[in-house]
Amino acid sequence: MSYDLTEEQRMFRETVRRLALERVEPRAAEIDRTGEFPWDIFQLFRDYGLVGVGMPEELGGGGADLLTFCIGVEEIARVCATSSLIIAAQHLGAMPILVAGNEEQKRRFIPDIASGNKISAFALTEPEAGSDAGGTKTRAVLDGDRYRLSGTKVFITNGGLAKTLVVFASTDPDRGVRGVSAFVVDGESQGLSVGRIEDKMGIRGSQTAMLNFDDVRVPRENLLGQEGEGFKIAMRTLDRTRPGIAAQALGIAQGALDAALDHLKQRRQFGRPLIEQEAIQFMLADMETQIQASRHLLYKAAEVVETAGFEAQSSPEVTRYSAMAKLICSDTAMEVTTNAVQLFGGYGYVRDYPVERMMRDAKITQIYEGTNQVQRLVIFRNLLEKGLN
Ligand SMILES: Cc1cc2nc3c(=O)[nH]c(=O)nc-3n(C[C@H](O)[C@H](O)[C@H](O)COP(=O)(O)OP(=O)(O)OC[C@H]3O[C@@H](n4cnc5c(N)ncnc54)[C@H](O)[C@@H]3O)c2cc1C
Repeated sequence: MSYDLTEEQRMFRETVRRLALERVEPRAAEIDRTGEFPWDIFQLFRDYGLVGVGMPEELGGGGADLLTFCIGVEEIARVCATSSLIIAAQHLGAMPILVAGNEEQKRRFIPDIASGNKISAFALTEPEAGSDAGGTKTRAVLDGDRYRLSGTKVFITNGGLAKTLVVFASTDPDRGVRGVSAFVVDGESQGLSVGRIEDKMGIRGSQTAMLNFDDVRVPRENLLGQEGEGFKIAMRTLDRTRPGIAAQALGIAQGALDAALDHLKQRRQFGRPLIEQEAIQFMLADMETQIQASRHLLYKAAEVVETAGFEAQSSPEVTRYSAMAKLICSDTAMEVTTNAVQLFGGYGYVRDYPVERMMRDAKITQIYEGTNQVQRLVIFRNLLEKGLN
C-alpha cells in the first residue's frame, strides 16, 4: 500500500485489521446465511469505540478524520460487508445533525449515536422518490409547537432498529425540492411503525425497512436548519458519507482479491498451481490495478471532504470527489468480485467460499446513497461548473 498514511492511521488500520480477522471474519458467512442483524458485532464495535469513530470527540465520538474512518470501514468490509455497514450507517444517521444541527441539537442527539447507545437512521427514500429524492411526498405540517408527519419511507437501513432517525418531509409541496425539510424523529414516537423488512441479495445482516408515519408528532425544536433546507442538508450529508460507501466497496474488492490469490496458489490443474497460468496472472494484475487506482481516488476524496469540514457548504470539488470515489470504488468492487468468482471456477459459485457473498454484497454499493448513474450525473454537472483544469 503506497498511499501516504500517518503513523496513527497506519496503527489504526493494523488494529482494525486484526479485530476484523479475529472477530468479524469468523462470523461473516453465518451473518449472511441467517440474515440477522449481528448484535454481537455491534457490541464489539461499541467496545472498541468504532461505532462513532468518525464523529467529533467533543460529542462523544472518536474524532477520527474521514480518511481514518474510511480505512476502518475498508478493513471491516474486507471480511464482512454487513459489519462494515454498521459503522457507515451510524455515520449516515448522524451526519445531517452534524452538518446542519445547532449546538443544542448536536449535544442532545450525537453522544448517544456516537457511543452506540442508540442506533440511527437516515430516512430519505420513498416509494415514488428514489433517485429523484427531492420528490418527497411525506408531509410535515406545523401545528402549534409540533410538526405532524405522515407518509412512507422505504429501504431505510436500520429503520426498524433506530431510536434516532433523520426524516425528510415536505413542509411546502408547492415549492417542490425547496419545500423539503429535515427532522430528527424519535424511533419510539407514536404513529411510527415498521412495515416490511426486505429480503435482500447481499448485506443480508443489515436491516432494510419500510417505515410508516401516521401523524407522528415531532417537536418544533427537532427541525434541522430552516424549513425548506432539507434537500440541501441531504445532499451535504451524502457528500460526506459517500466516501464511506466507497471504502466499503473497496474493502469488498480487496477481500475478493485476497481470497482469489490464496485459492489460486493452492488449486492445481494441468499438473501445476493455477497461479502459474499467465491468463490468470493477467486477471489478477488487472484486479490489483483497479483496486489501487480506486484506493488512491478514495483517499484523495477523503482528504478533500475532510478539509471542507462538517459545517461548510459543499463546494463543487467536494461533491465531485465524493461521487467519483463512490463510482470508481463500487464499479471496481463489482468487477473484481465477479472476476474472483470466475477465478474460483465452480467453487466460486457455492457458499463454501466467501467470493460469491462478496459479489452479492458488492452490488449494493453501486445502488445505495445514489446509484452510479446518479453519481455520473453529479460528476458531470460539477464538471461543467469546474471548467478546464
Ligand atoms: C439495501 C438498501 C439500503 C438502503 N438504505 C437507504 C437508507 O438508509 N436511507 C435511504 O433514504 N435510502 C436507502 N436506500 C435507497 C437507495 O438509496 C435507493 O434505492 C437508490 O437511491 C435508488 O432509488 P430507487 O431504488 O427508487 O431507484 P430508481 O430511482 O427507480 O432508479 C431505477 C434505475 O433508473 C436509474 N435512473 C434513475 N434516474 C435516472 C436518471 N436521471 N438518469 C439515468 N438513470 C437514472 C437508476 O440509476 C436505476 O438504475 C437503500 C436501498 C437499498 C437497496
